[in-house]
Amino acid sequence: MRRLFQFHGGVHLKEHKKDAMSQPVQAARMPKQLVLPLQQHIGAPAEAIVTAGDKVSKGQLIARPGSAISAPVHASSSGTVAAISEHPVSHPSHLNAPCIIIDTDGEDRWCTDRHPVANYHELPPEKIREHIRDAGIVGMGGAGFPAHIKLNPDDHVVDTLILNGAECEPYITCDEMLLRERALEVIAGLRIMRYALQAKRCIIGIENNKAVAFHVLQEQVRNTGADFIEVIQVPTVYPTGGEKQLIRVLTGKEVPAGGLPLDIGVVCHNVGTAYAVYRAIELAEPLISRYVTIAGSVAHARNLEVLIGTPVIDLIEECGGNRNTLSRVILGGPMMGTALHNVTAPVTKTTNCILVNSTVGDVPLPSRDKHAMPCIRCGNCAIACPIDLLPQQLYWYARAKDFDKVQDYHLFDCIECGCCDYVCPSQIPLVHYFRYAKTEIWAQQHEKTLADIARERHQFREQRLERDKREKQERHKKKRAALKPAGNAASKEDEAKKAAIQAAMDRAKTKRESNGIEPKNTQSLTAEQQQKINEADARRAELKNSPTNKQDVQRDLLQDNNP
Ligand code: SF4
Ligand code: SF4
Repeated sequence: MRRLFQFHGGVHLKEHKKDAMSQPVQAARMPKQLVLPLQQHIGAPAEAIVTAGDKVSKGQLIARPGSAISAPVHASSSGTVAAISEHPVSHPSHLNAPCIIIDTDGEDRWCTDRHPVANYHELPPEKIREHIRDAGIVGMGGAGFPAHIKLNPDDHVVDTLILNGAECEPYITCDEMLLRERALEVIAGLRIMRYALQAKRCIIGIENNKAVAFHVLQEQVRNTGADFIEVIQVPTVYPTGGEKQLIRVLTGKEVPAGGLPLDIGVVCHNVGTAYAVYRAIELAEPLISRYVTIAGSVAHARNLEVLIGTPVIDLIEECGGNRNTLSRVILGGPMMGTALHNVTAPVTKTTNCILVNSTVGDVPLPSRDKHAMPCIRCGNCAIACPIDLLPQQLYWYARAKDFDKVQDYHLFDCIECGCCDYVCPSQIPLVHYFRYAKTEIWAQQHEKTLADIARERHQFREQRLERDKREKQERHKKKRAALKPAGNAASKEDEAKKAAIQAAMDRAKTKRESNGIEPKNTQSLTAEQQQKINEADARRAELKNSPTNKQDVQRDLLQDNNP
């Protein structure tokens, strides 16, 4: 008998589950159009690899992962790509998002290149994770984290793999129906996941208000002889289905604040994810459908197996809802779900419930804003908080926009379970304030990150320019230094030459002055030559002594020519 532990706080809620479980799960009607958002998971959006007009088959890859943390998207049925465009989706921002829209042809024709894994034990765990990645499987409990990443233990030893079948929110019954109807397949998926993680043991946690599913599971586990799997009933307290709470209840271990279950040797997956893993490995079917609960103000609340991309309004109408009387539709449960602003938005991989016109008084509604009264500091919210936070303090600081203080009170540990909202006698929409504060802080961090990037880029540019300038100066300096010795040598050489010439000239002058110049051809002259020289010397002497220099001759000529 396994010992169970308790977590702090929690609340008991009315279940509202019976209606939707009154009939077996059936396949939903084929919609005329499938709307497949490129972002159905945590991480980067997928990137479309088809274009408008392309014919696609069921299961065909139509968008590949956008990064390492991402998931591919596959066509949920055969047809023609009508468009890749913005379309309403379920998102708190109420903004549209890029989607691949397929006009279905009604043939539901599978693509042919599917390859089931005959015996997964023969493949290394990383190959199994690759198959799971290629099948586009993400956490189907609502978080939407790519499953192959969560199935990678890295360097950790995984002691316990927990399969979360707690499903603690009111109205939602899709996991319970899956366990009732597909227990064997879920167990098969769990075994594959255990192999991928190399986990020592497995626990399937299921709330004790799900007796049928519990017994079916127990029997199937017994039949498979998997003695490493335990099926454990946990108390029906909201939010036992929270990952940290279920780990605490089943193992007594606390996931450290800001840490991961893997840090304490535990990995937790949803039962729907295990079923998807089974289909991916054993049947080579990517994640193109899931169980969805349609509950609330519809004539026939039930669970349907729905093709991903089916418009929400189609399912509401299939269950007897009337589009003209819709006032409020929530995707997910009443405590943690998201209000839908446009019912043409599609079911995605993480949609577990469509709650129509929820008017029950035991769940928080946005209309409570109108009736909110001042906080009376009763402390009920702190008593109910499963994370042991102080919601009233968080509320005060979030309201005062003191975003530093709100973080001091561990705002980001809040799982937005809504327990504090639920018990608040002043009907203060506490979670709205927490979501607002988180969004503001993220926006500020985003702006700060952008500013930091811009500043770093500017500083880098300044440093680069400074470095270039320094390097240029260095280069010039080196060049000058390289040129200087050659210049000196040249000038020294010139000076030496000049000095040599000057010295030669000086020597010649000195020689001339001291010795006179003796013409070399004055030796051995013939008498006739000597005679001519003498005559020339006589004429030169005569000319020298005569007034008839050049000017005198010219003057004489001028005088002769005048009349
Ligand atoms: S439960 Fe409401 S009224 Fe009471 S302390 Fe918390 S916020 Fe204030
Ligand atoms: S919503 Fe946050 S603060 Fe409120 S009870 Fe849940 S975890 Fe605590």
